[in-house]
Amino acid sequence: MGEVKKFVFSFGAGRAEGSGAMKALLGGKGAGLAEMTNIGLPVPAGFTLTTEVCDLYYKNNKQYPPELKEQVAEHLARLEKTVGKVLGDSKDPLLVSVRSGAPVSMPGMMETILNLGLNDKSVEGLVQKTGDRRFALDAYRRFIMMYGATAKGVPHDELEETFNQVKEEKTRPRLGAAATKRILDSEVNADEFGVLIPRLKAIYKRHTGEEFPQDPQVQLWGAIAAVFDSWSAPKAVTYREVEKLTGIVGTAVSVVQMVFGNLAERSGTGVCFTRDPNHGDNVFYGDYLPNAQGEDVVAGIRTPMTLHDFEKADKAAYDQLVEVRRRLESHYRDMQDLEFTVEEGKLYMLQCRTGKRSPGAAFQIAVDMVKEGLISKAEAVLRIRDKDIEGLFYPVIDPSKKAEMKQAWLVQGIDAVPGAATGKVVFSAKQAELRAAAGDAVILVRRETSPEDVGGMHSAVGILTATGGKTSHAAVVARGWGKCCIVGCEMLEVDYEDKVFRVGTALVREGEEITLNGSTGDVYRGRLPLIQPEPSEAFNTLMAWADAFRSLEVRANVDTPYDAVKARTLGAQGVGLCRTEHMFFDSEDRILAIRKMIVAENAEERVVALNALLPLQREDFAGIFRAMAGLPVTIRLIDPPLHEFVPHDEVGQKALAKASGKTFEHIRTRIERLHEQNPMLGHRGCRLCITYPEILDMQVKAIIEAALICVREGLEVIPEIMHPLIIDRREFAFLEARTRLVADALIQESGLKLHYLVGAMIETPRAALLSGGIAEKAEFFSFGTNDLTQMTLGISRDDAGRFLPDYVDEHRAAVFRQDPFYTLDQEGVGKLIEMAIDQGRRARHDLEIGICGEHGGELESVKFCHRVGMNYVSCSPYRVPIARLAAGQASIPHH
Ligand code: PEP
Ligand code: MG
Repeated sequence: MGEVKKFVFSFGAGRAEGSGAMKALLGGKGAGLAEMTNIGLPVPAGFTLTTEVCDLYYKNNKQYPPELKEQVAEHLARLEKTVGKVLGDSKDPLLVSVRSGAPVSMPGMMETILNLGLNDKSVEGLVQKTGDRRFALDAYRRFIMMYGATAKGVPHDELEETFNQVKEEKTRPRLGAAATKRILDSEVNADEFGVLIPRLKAIYKRHTGEEFPQDPQVQLWGAIAAVFDSWSAPKAVTYREVEKLTGIVGTAVSVVQMVFGNLAERSGTGVCFTRDPNHGDNVFYGDYLPNAQGEDVVAGIRTPMTLHDFEKADKAAYDQLVEVRRRLESHYRDMQDLEFTVEEGKLYMLQCRTGKRSPGAAFQIAVDMVKEGLISKAEAVLRIRDKDIEGLFYPVIDPSKKAEMKQAWLVQGIDAVPGAATGKVVFSAKQAELRAAAGDAVILVRRETSPEDVGGMHSAVGILTATGGKTSHAAVVARGWGKCCIVGCEMLEVDYEDKVFRVGTALVREGEEITLNGSTGDVYRGRLPLIQPEPSEAFNTLMAWADAFRSLEVRANVDTPYDAVKARTLGAQGVGLCRTEHMFFDSEDRILAIRKMIVAENAEERVVALNALLPLQREDFAGIFRAMAGLPVTIRLIDPPLHEFVPHDEVGQKALAKASGKTFEHIRTRIERLHEQNPMLGHRGCRLCITYPEILDMQVKAIIEAALICVREGLEVIPEIMHPLIIDRREFAFLEARTRLVADALIQESGLKLHYLVGAMIETPRAALLSGGIAEKAEFFSFGTNDLTQMTLGISRDDAGRFLPDYVDEHRAAVFRQDPFYTLDQEGVGKLIEMAIDQGRRARHDLEIGICGEHGGELESVKFCHRVGMNYVSCSPYRVPIARLAAGQASIPHH
């Protein structure tokens, strides 16, 4: 016979069967109670039903495993023995609380029932034992209300209403209170509770068709089922979706001996953090409510006192709490979030878990704990999450405005770039520019965005689109600027004609204010207050520690000198990708110059147009080289399909005709001919320079001339010229030869010394498969994982938002744990990368290898890049600190 599975774990009297390490099985609460018991802290006794029971309960159509009944009975008997009381006893009853506790905290999402074990007889026992009739009846009515509402679905409002009626009928006249004065629960006396209780039971019976259960066993199993059922309640399911909590099998249930914070004087209950969770200061932080039971604090019925006042009110009890704080911090070596009750001057700990903290506090606490000798620098670096860094740099909606947020909520899209923004709605890039120039903060709302909208996107404080995914153009560009952006908001109906957008029946007009939370994808009506957190001293200290650990370099993807300066201040060690075409959108002059180049009819005309672009590009490149003096700068030649640059409306086409001295007809046909069925697989990337080598000539010339200008200025310049969308070694050899021809001639002519590299982007599966041949000529590889993901998966990066969530949803296809355009698909795309690196380095042992797709700024993907031996990652400037952190974490052994 196999061993019987253990589904229940006891704790009490200084010993626990479980421990703090068993969070997955016992839930956060169960594990915390076990651990606190084991280290000798005052914890009421009890037992925990594991998360496996919850899992089996759901898998077996809400049936418990057969062994459970017996195990619960056994542990209950043990609890009764430890406490010396019996559940439901008519003289001195044991009362218990039944509490939920998932492996990850889900605040307010699941249920708790207190005072279980009370019935018509045992309540009299409690009266006898405590000598306090009012207290006992109050506990009983709380239990009936909680059990009814939570376990049996009796409407909570109806129970509350009945309570209010009793207050009005009895308490108010007795007190002679004015009609306007609110009657507090604490003012209701024993006789009045005596009137209330039968009424509550009657409501219970009307709704359930049964008497309120008097048998404590029935109560216990009813409460256990209520907690397990709350796991699948809509709010809990939604919370897990929103928080992206996957792979958790269920909640545990802890059954814990009741201790009473509402037992006369010197009793109370509180919640506290061992350090300030907002700023991270090493101060004790929390609330205490005298003469109260647990739910009173959370529900905010009365205003609690500060811990400082608690100290003044009951120093002896406070000192016990301070001692617990000290012991827990040195035991867990992290900030803890505690719940406690004081019963007649004696402290009991009801919960302890790692405390949630603001991004700023995360840095402060980690750095302080190193200084205090509690943790090592490596541990401090490992404790910081990417979210903490994001949260430091972007403005956020003032978190104290929860009620306003709830009221103003409109719709949710995909959280493409974090941070928050508030401004007036505009529907075109032009309007965005105009309004912004007039001093308005605007939010650009579009069905989708195209490169033509870049100006408007830049002018806007935030961007909201109905289509697209995390690596769509809008998202990539906005991320580069650290600009709040929500994409793929499919519920949004954008009506450009009437200048409104609709979400169901709600309608928002141009000029109305909305607020975006790019960190969650939530859109709100109206203006919500934003606050801007300042990166602190602690941030700098911790990042320096991360840098000391890492071997991977971190570069930035930047398109302008301004961005380059910004990137350098954030710690970038060079530029890993400069998307040259982005410069063309900067001004009317530039866009016109490139449009003329595109509609040119022959090479000669094209060269004339290109020559107009040359000085503009040269100037930009020189600016970037200056900002990055002494560091490598990777410049990619033109990449997008040409049709992205030209106007598609008649007005724009006519203007272009006029400017280029051609007929409208001619322009229109030329543009029509540029149309492609699959532009992302079309005439783009290095294919453009294969067809029109004069584009290569101009761009290489601009790069080398800019570099030579800087060399003359005495700066060190390290240009790396990169060819996108390579598929073959012959193609690359052709481009490389032409690049060197142009570059070497210029260098020779200048008489100066300039070393430059020529390399390939590996962003097609074919290039990855045949990378050895490409490395014969390429001095570096840069993995363009946006396109490589798109082409390896055969999933469009721009349209994926519509169906990719089904591939991530653990209840559907569950192919990916995260959006593969956000977190690298290590299994598939990663395999190609590993192969390509291996073959590339075999062909050229000193091949420099990096990544410049969006994954270069994502924590898990950066760790992968470290493992496969890349030299650097490159990401948008605002993600540079995240990449530094990830690279540091990846270098710390055994975690
Ligand atoms: C890529 O494909 O990963 C890349 C960096 O290039 P782009 O996003 O410009 O296509
Ligand atoms: Mg690409």
